[in-house]
Amino acid sequence: MTHQAVDLTNCDREPIHIPGLIQPHGALLVLQEPDLTIIQVSSNTLESIGHPPQDLLGKPLSALLAPKQIATIRQCLSEDFEHVNPLDISVKRAAKLLRFDGIVHRQNALIVLELEPKQKSQKADFVEFYQHVKGTITKIQKAPTLLEMSEAVVKEVRKVTGFDRVMVYQFDADGSGRVIAEDRVEALTPYLGLHYPPTDIPKQAKQLYTLNWLRLIPDSTYQPIALVPAHNPVDDRPTDLSLSVLRSVSPLHLEYLSNMGVGASMSISLIQDQKLWGLIACHHSTPRYVPYSVRTICEFVGQVMSVELANKEDHEDLDYKMTLKSLQGKLVESLSQSERFLDGLIQLDSNLLDLVSASGAAICAADQIICVGQTPPESELPALRDWIKTQIQHNQFQTRSLAQLYPAAASFKAVASGVLALEISQFHQNYIFWFRPEVLQTVNWGGNPTKPVEVTDDGETRLSPRKSFERWQETVQGCSLPWKPYEIEIVTELRSLIVGVILKQADDLATINLELERSNTELDSFAYIASHDLKEPLRGIHNYSNFLMEDYAAVLDADGVSKLNTVVRLTQRMEDLINSLLHYSRLGRAELSRQPTNLNEVVRQAIDTLRISQPQSSIEFRLPRSLPTISCDRTQISELFTNLLTNAIKYNDKAEKWVEIGFIEADRGDPEDPLLYTFYVRDNGIGIPPHHLERVFQIFKRLHTQDQYGGGTGAGLTIVQKIVERHGGKIWVESAIGEGSTFYFTLAARGQS
Ligand code: ADP
Repeated sequence: MTHQAVDLTNCDREPIHIPGLIQPHGALLVLQEPDLTIIQVSSNTLESIGHPPQDLLGKPLSALLAPKQIATIRQCLSEDFEHVNPLDISVKRAAKLLRFDGIVHRQNALIVLELEPKQKSQKADFVEFYQHVKGTITKIQKAPTLLEMSEAVVKEVRKVTGFDRVMVYQFDADGSGRVIAEDRVEALTPYLGLHYPPTDIPKQAKQLYTLNWLRLIPDSTYQPIALVPAHNPVDDRPTDLSLSVLRSVSPLHLEYLSNMGVGASMSISLIQDQKLWGLIACHHSTPRYVPYSVRTICEFVGQVMSVELANKEDHEDLDYKMTLKSLQGKLVESLSQSERFLDGLIQLDSNLLDLVSASGAAICAADQIICVGQTPPESELPALRDWIKTQIQHNQFQTRSLAQLYPAAASFKAVASGVLALEISQFHQNYIFWFRPEVLQTVNWGGNPTKPVEVTDDGETRLSPRKSFERWQETVQGCSLPWKPYEIEIVTELRSLIVGVILKQADDLATINLELERSNTELDSFAYIASHDLKEPLRGIHNYSNFLMEDYAAVLDADGVSKLNTVVRLTQRMEDLINSLLHYSRLGRAELSRQPTNLNEVVRQAIDTLRISQPQSSIEFRLPRSLPTISCDRTQISELFTNLLTNAIKYNDKAEKWVEIGFIEADRGDPEDPLLYTFYVRDNGIGIPPHHLERVFQIFKRLHTQDQYGGGTGAGLTIVQKIVERHGGKIWVESAIGEGSTFYFTLAARGQS
């Protein structure tokens, strides 16, 4: 015995569609148009149709068949031949008339005619076919589940064919297969529930199963029949027998069958979404021929079952699917009510897990990863996330044995052997991962799957399919329960729903912003128009009060004069207020004119002006370091500093007053970027009580009586705040009563320059 790393994937390369051989239970003729000239035949024509190959080759088909039959074949070729096969063909042999099922198909430019002798008892009539099929189809359709449908099918197929054993064999995602239904002769060992490795059915055999619905090997010990000549003369190549019903089978497959004790076999393809979903596999311990008409019934049953597959799978676990749907609804509802995608998901913790029957989940948003339930250790998650990101296709990735693909996962396979990942947004780095624990499973294989072949060393080393089909148990480790197709479907749907919610939230926000902008503009114009128009009658009142004072002072008594003086004073004050309002509303309406502005200069000028207006007061202005040059509206920023500095001096009763103007700088960035700086104006003044810290920014809000601290309209800080906000920044104040206040402000927002 030589030990080599070999398996039946060697079979994957075997060109089984051009074997140049057929099975002996019929004859094959390759014809060329237009005269249907016989250009290639199977070498058994003498035995099967009574004419040796050399009598047929080069002759038109009319030399063999009656004109009526030729006409049928020609008509068949112009139609969809699948619906006309089999043709009733008879060939004269001496005095006898031999009857055949003729099966015709086109292969590229060639026509292949296969003749299978009719059985004596055989009479194919439509009524009989219909009788057979009618009951079976009703059973298939009525079966409530996939399993019950499969059970009905194996029984029916066994009844019409008489095979010893009929099974429904379903392929798993990895190409291995499992017997999910079986009907058999009592004496045979059951194969139900057994698994078979992918190597048992090579790739190109699978390919042929999707081309042909049915494949029959009446005798697994047959001697193959060669075609003569070996290559067809048209293209000097072996004729492609992909669609031939007599095509010879790979010797490896025959050996496999005989090792399994199978004398005859038939398989019917089960196809879903153009892919081979499984097979109805029939075995007989001795050779067994199945006439074409019976095969047609089986083929039809296979087709009906194929159509019903999706239907039955849809109805499978209906309750579970309904629960998932309602969970999905809850999730979306909570998402749409929360402001951030993360919050909505986290709130739901157990629902999020139930959605796909997971035991843990990780929600990734930018640099944050939030865990729900049982997950791999948090320290492992960033690396796992970065790896999963590279695996995602069509927004998702799933595996039931993570450690096989990502070896680092071996350490946490107990909690996360299964991973289902959903990408919500690559740009925002939003992902949801669901985890499932390892579940040790026992798989019963029909023979040791790790030894699909045996190497015999009998002079030459030869591969042969495995001989042992003894039940072989394997305990599978590092695997979770599989993610079911509809669980994957539900998270894919969830993604579109989440994206929908996020888009809607963004839309709503944009509408609110627009609305806000519009109402702000309206308010500004209202304040502007109102204050502008109010000024005129106010001026009138003021002037007329003065006239009264000048012309009628003598007539009025002292009380009258004093009241008139109050009117004048109040109108003056009202004018001040209106002017402030007007100024404030102008600020809202004017375009910002940003330019590189040296704040040092701006502050120096403001200080100079203040010194001129208050020559008597001694104030120390402190500038710990030179202020930067930033992009801003020079006039407005100059007003901002003037206001803050005025207040700093005004609300200060210390003998030694000081004001400090400075800034705090972020770690790095462009020095001209205003985002980089938080400015401040600090004084050693009277301070502001904590509960007034925000109210000082309200318009006309003063914390003192009219005349205290040099009076004022109470609009100064409101204007300062407006200027800061127009620059995209923020302003706030920190203060301690009796010690002083510090006004902080920024002059830009992210995304703005
Ligand atoms: P005005 O100075 O015209 O009253 P402001 O809007 O500039 O209006 O200020 C509003 C109020 O905030 C002031 O009346 C004062 O009570 C308080 N305030 C402003 N700046 C300071 C400061 N630096 N120190 C203490 N209180 C201040």
